[in-house]
Amino acid sequence: MIKSYKVRLEPTKEQIELMFKTAGCTRFVYNWCLGFQKERFETGEKFVSAMGMSKYLTALKKDGDHDWLKEVDSIALVGAYTDACTSFKNFFQGLKKGQKVGYPKFKAKKHTKPSFMPNYQSIKFNENQVKLPKIGIVKLSRKNYIPIVKKYSNPRVTFDGLNWYISVGVEEEDYVSLELNGTIGIDLGLKDTAILSTGKKYKNINKTAHVKRIEKRLKKLQRQVSRKYESNRQGKIYNKTNNIEKINKKINKLHKRLANIRNNYNHNITADIVNMNPAKIVIEDLNIKGMMKNKHLSDAIGKQGLYEITRQLDYKCKYKGIELVKADRWYPSSKTCSNCGHINKDLKLSDRTYICPECGTVIDRDLNAAINLANYKTEQ
Ligand SMILES: [Zn+2]
Repeated sequence: MIKSYKVRLEPTKEQIELMFKTAGCTRFVYNWCLGFQKERFETGEKFVSAMGMSKYLTALKKDGDHDWLKEVDSIALVGAYTDACTSFKNFFQGLKKGQKVGYPKFKAKKHTKPSFMPNYQSIKFNENQVKLPKIGIVKLSRKNYIPIVKKYSNPRVTFDGLNWYISVGVEEEDYVSLELNGTIGIDLGLKDTAILSTGKKYKNINKTAHVKRIEKRLKKLQRQVSRKYESNRQGKIYNKTNNIEKINKKINKLHKRLANIRNNYNHNITADIVNMNPAKIVIEDLNIKGMMKNKHLSDAIGKQGLYEITRQLDYKCKYKGIELVKADRWYPSSKTCSNCGHINKDLKLSDRTYICPECGTVIDRDLNAAINLANYKTEQ
């Protein structure tokens, strides 16, 4: 699944100028391409696909009158004529279907919000900056918000009349390879087993259909056994019949199977995380013993093996030379805003989304906690 992110940019004066320039050039190329195709259409010449447009653009750049087109991200210009070609194709399709369609409209400066598509292969983010081709490193208004991945889809830089923004799509699978400042924060929980500061989530395996099915079968067998005990009871003596023995064997088998599934899953999670090779991993020092006293919670924690995950991380990190930090359990990882540091004391356990009353950040509760853990300072 692709998730999209949008964040406000904090460009310098020079960068703002360059952004308007890029947006202006892309608008120009869009209109130029429309005009080009329109002329060909009217003179009975063949439509030129986006692929075929590149040589015409190169010629335009070299004609002596359009040198300024060379000053901006060339891929943004490709995006512009690709858009124009798409508009033209839609126009053709309309004609084919016999609809009454007009030519695609030119983009008037007055009615067009400045925007462009930077080269998706060369944009790079770090925790609070983005590198844009020809524009340089631009500051972001939010820290640690955009996951650091190798590839972004559909990047778009837009101006809303007041501010510039960048939006990108991130394939959730791509989270795997990434980390923030070489540190991964892990929020262990009951809803999802683990969520990383990079955005990667490890779902609770006990909520999968496969595990639920086995548990259902297990319960059914357990009920059967107790019924059989009851029906074979002689006074206060419970007899273990062959039949009961048989069902018990089945029950044991299912127990083993469930344990195996959970165990494998936990090993996969911890292996996956250490294989990202971060310099440091920060987890919460879950007071598991304390939590285990709560019967309702203890069952869930036991099933998810949160303690086991912690134990595995311990030795796997040692083996790989990764520093493992356990944030002390009073560190307010859930209640702190990972963007501005404000502590929201009113956050309830049932609030799945963290909304910061101070800076307006809206973020998944567990992701917020994981990012705070990644930012945890040992000396505090
Ligand atoms: Zn905030």
